[in-house]
Amino acid sequence: MVFQKDTLKDKVAIITGGGTGIGKGIAMEFAKVGAHIVVASRKRENLENATVEIRGLGARALAIPCDVRQPDQVDAMVQRTVEEFGKIDILVNNAAGIFRVPSEQLSINGWRAVVGIVLDGSFFCSRAVGKEMIRARKGGCIINILGTNAWLGYPGRVHSACAKAGVLAMTRTLGVEWGSYGIRVNAIVPGAIPTEGAIAALWSEPGALDRVLHSIPLRKFGTPEDIAWAAIYLASEAGRYVNGEALVVDAGRWLAGR
Ligand code: NAP
Repeated sequence: MVFQKDTLKDKVAIITGGGTGIGKGIAMEFAKVGAHIVVASRKRENLENATVEIRGLGARALAIPCDVRQPDQVDAMVQRTVEEFGKIDILVNNAAGIFRVPSEQLSINGWRAVVGIVLDGSFFCSRAVGKEMIRARKGGCIINILGTNAWLGYPGRVHSACAKAGVLAMTRTLGVEWGSYGIRVNAIVPGAIPTEGAIAALWSEPGALDRVLHSIPLRKFGTPEDIAWAAIYLASEAGRYVNGEALVVDAGRWLAGR
């Protein structure tokens, strides 16, 4: 194991979109180093399955169905977490949606759906958790999962690029604004991680995955664990002086001209 079993001992972490893909990977790796986990997203079955696996690692785990676009549901999810665990130490804003469409054909509903999950959802969760962290006066750590599209743009996915750019601005803004409360706000920027969700949304046509592979300088895909380990670093004592930063974990792909 890369980290020690007690690296995040008894930390309480909320992970949105924690029932699948990268979010589930973060939940599992956090649990292996001592954290207790709340996974929150819309599909109860994915959440319940994840909590069974997390409990199998010896951690406490709670599944809370929640649409992050709905502030009332977000507030209730945060309240339920505090009732169950007494505190919140870590929030990972990982929930997202994406699909490919030429911008002139993007419907208003499609725009609102993606911006609602990524930008509104990350803010609603940060706001609700930030309030609780400020009230508790114990500091905290918020990690936003971005994409390199936040600064490169993403032709055919303007909704995602604009929303992720907003979350990058939120990362820097809240890192400064909440720094005096001991709350660090950072981002992780994953490279190409072939989760089921990403393959279905981005790389389903024949040859797409091969083309992506050849765009990665290290010539290998990333895994949810690669992103989770960066998250453990940021959430742990090792990351205590890192704030307002966006950590790219992409094997150099964006520098090679994605
Ligand atoms: P994924 O498995 O499809 O994860 C997306 C998650 O978001 C799902 O668990 C989904 O759960 C949740 N979600 C969607 N709408 C929601 C809503 N309204 N409320 C609450 N939760 C919602 O895809 P992934 O590849 O692991 O992506 C995870 C994160 O990494 C995303 O932020 C993505 O932008 C980022 N990322 C991924 C890659 C990659 O190559 N995979 C690259 C760069 C960045 P429900 O359906 O249950 O709601």
